[in-house]
Amino acid sequence: MSSGGPVPQEFSVAVVGGGIIGLSIAWRLAQSGWTVAIFDKCAAGGEASWAGAGMLAPGGEFEEVSRLTELAIESRREYQPFVRELEAESDTAIDFGECGALDLAFSGEELKALDERARGQSAIGIHSKALELSQVYAFWPRIRRDTLAGARFYPDDAVVNPRDVVYALKIACRKRGVRIAEHCGVQRLAISENSVTIETEEGSAEYRAVVVAAGAWSSQLAVGGVPDLPSARPVKGQLIGYRQPAGTCATIVRHGSFYFLQRANGLMIAGASVEHSGFNREIRPTITEQLAKQAGLVFPHLDETTPSEVWVGFRPGGEELQIRSWHSPRLYLAYGHYRNGILLAPVTAKAITTELNANLQKP
Ligand SMILES: Cc1cc2nc3c(=O)[nH]c(=O)nc-3n(C[C@H](O)[C@H](O)[C@H](O)COP(=O)(O)OP(=O)(O)OC[C@H]3O[C@@H](n4cnc5c(N)ncnc54)[C@H](O)[C@@H]3O)c2cc1C
Repeated sequence: MSSGGPVPQEFSVAVVGGGIIGLSIAWRLAQSGWTVAIFDKCAAGGEASWAGAGMLAPGGEFEEVSRLTELAIESRREYQPFVRELEAESDTAIDFGECGALDLAFSGEELKALDERARGQSAIGIHSKALELSQVYAFWPRIRRDTLAGARFYPDDAVVNPRDVVYALKIACRKRGVRIAEHCGVQRLAISENSVTIETEEGSAEYRAVVVAAGAWSSQLAVGGVPDLPSARPVKGQLIGYRQPAGTCATIVRHGSFYFLQRANGLMIAGASVEHSGFNREIRPTITEQLAKQAGLVFPHLDETTPSEVWVGFRPGGEELQIRSWHSPRLYLAYGHYRNGILLAPVTAKAITTELNANLQKP
């Protein structure tokens, strides 16, 4: 299906994929003087970047020194200026909160594990502090008390509504002249010494460079002129949401791999499943039940509450995070962000823009 009109011609750089990663890159490239066209096979921002919870939370994700940890910490640091600049350029508000995160332990063993992890994290610049139970009860009055053994607070973790970010990026991109061709899937890329040809069902066009940011679908692209792209694969996640009074969950709350956060509009999100079942969009009632049961264990008042929303998305998993050129100064990869693509959008856009600017001269 196409509603995007003819294939955009006369642009210098094409971005394949209009999720948060592709849109952020297009915005930064346009700011630095490139003319940019984005291709999306569906509505831009309608896949993982629509589904994501929006935790910006190195504290919940990283324990060891790695390039990914460094990028995550750097991107978290850059998020507030990124959001403020985007709000100003798009003239829209983004639901963003530097609220911190609370990690809960419901046994002595869990508490020991939390403390050990925190010791390792503080050595890599991720800080947290142990809280007294009385502090937990005072600030999070709805959390289960009878079996709570302890908790740690991560002050630097934050949340954003990714749908707000995507909406603002689309506006900011268009204001900068970026053409967003929606419902225009790219089938093939042909890389040559001086240009890249993009082929779609609607026709083809030539660009000076192309960025592949097609999330979990990235390695499905047929590419000529360079070795096959590193593999990407979908890791399905199912989330549930409850309509709750604002302030019910004023920070991220985590128990093991299970988490809660609340949007400014009151939607309290709990998640998420991790499923290796391909691009299967089925919402599974058993997963909804498991998530709801977990939710009731942490917030007893949710025991009798039915989730008002359930949705799924495909995290872009794969071999490893790709933020780099690929065997040509004309081809750039930006995918494999797995469960941290919302967090990593600012640094990804900066890195690709810097490399592309270093490799190619603007026309
Ligand atoms: C349940 C869940 C919870 C998550 N929670 C968090 C979180 O709390 N914090 C966090 O940082 N991250 C989180 N993530 C991960 C985050 O959502 C992703 O890493 C991020 O959205 C990836 O962005 P993307 O732009 O690479 O991919 P996507 O948003 O999937 O965008 C890729 C785009 O490419 C398009 N496309 C695909 N093939 C083609 C083609 N051939 N031609 C043209 N277009 C194409 C698609 O239509 C899509 O719009 C979560 C993800 C899920 C599913």
